[in-house]
Amino acid sequence: MSFGAPYISIPEFQYLKPKTLKEALETLSKYEDEAKVLAGGVGLLNLMKERLVEPEYVVDIKGIPELRKVTYEEGKGLTIGATVTLSELENNEIVERKYTALHEAIKVLSDPVLRNRSTLVGNVCEAFAWMDSLSPLLVFDAELKALSVNGERMIKAKDFIIGLAETALEPNELVASIFLPEPPKNSASKFIKFRSRSEFSVINVASLLANRDNPPERILRLAYGGATPSPVRVFAVEKVFKQQKPLNELLKEALDVVFKEVSPMEDMHASKEYREHLMETLTIKIIRELWGE
Ligand SMILES: Cc1cc2nc3c(=O)[nH]c(=O)nc-3n(C[C@H](O)[C@H](O)[C@H](O)COP(=O)(O)OP(=O)(O)OC[C@H]3O[C@@H](n4cnc5c(N)ncnc54)[C@H](O)[C@@H]3O)c2cc1C
Repeated sequence: MSFGAPYISIPEFQYLKPKTLKEALETLSKYEDEAKVLAGGVGLLNLMKERLVEPEYVVDIKGIPELRKVTYEEGKGLTIGATVTLSELENNEIVERKYTALHEAIKVLSDPVLRNRSTLVGNVCEAFAWMDSLSPLLVFDAELKALSVNGERMIKAKDFIIGLAETALEPNELVASIFLPEPPKNSASKFIKFRSRSEFSVINVASLLANRDNPPERILRLAYGGATPSPVRVFAVEKVFKQQKPLNELLKEALDVVFKEVSPMEDMHASKEYREHLMETLTIKIIRELWGE
């Protein structure tokens, strides 16, 4: 039974709370499309209120101990479990120091109450173009570990979102964790978001720079959220920054490449032209700041 009008009530569903990963995977395998995973619930319950999803079964994974871990191995990287909240990551010293762009994105993601419940994995799995965590994950070459009763596979963050609110997950899979490799030596990273009247990004950009003063070894990565239905890393821009040229020239060449590769979308929040303008402005700003100018 549902109570009241849409936007207030949620459709009837069966709430399942597996105690082990095995039990969760068996449940997903049994119900497939009829089931939805619940982590923080912030996104899922809203989608259900709006009748955009109506699962028969909601599988709450918060009681599974091994999904609640953050582990870091020097030289290898960081693994973030599926039920680790955004607040826990905001207070994690390794995330702040080594994965700064992700930390900066989390700090401006909605408000502290929401961050206490929401998980990073839930934010990624919601898979809307404007989610803030995706562009940083792209510049860190993140991978998601998908599990099912049939085993595990790693999915690169760049391949994970396949369309608006659509992921590469099979109906019987869940994401157990996100892995971020050790960032390149001597690197720094940043995130900037331009928000609409709501809290969501119209455009967000993440960038990583290493070895600024050694062009052949220089690494400059750039990724955008909100520009296209799936967040995008512009790989083609990376070779522009291997050249020994003044920053102004590099920026001009880089922007030409960005707009050859990315054609911004138009929606109720912004026109294509406005998004282009924001992308240009934010790209110049983030790269200049990383460059130390
Ligand atoms: C008022 C408000 C403001 C917001 N502001 C922002 C903002 O500024 N920036 C931003 O990026 N977002 C924003 N959001 C979106 C919000 O941050 C996301 O809804 C939230 O991060 C989702 O995380 P969750 O843990 O609550 O996921 P859930 O709601 O539990 O799940 C979200 C989706 O992911 C799926 N899912 C979750 N975990 C897994 C898993 N382990 N494996 C497979 N599928 C899974 C669920 O089935 C569901 O479809 C806002 C939301 C609200 C309500």
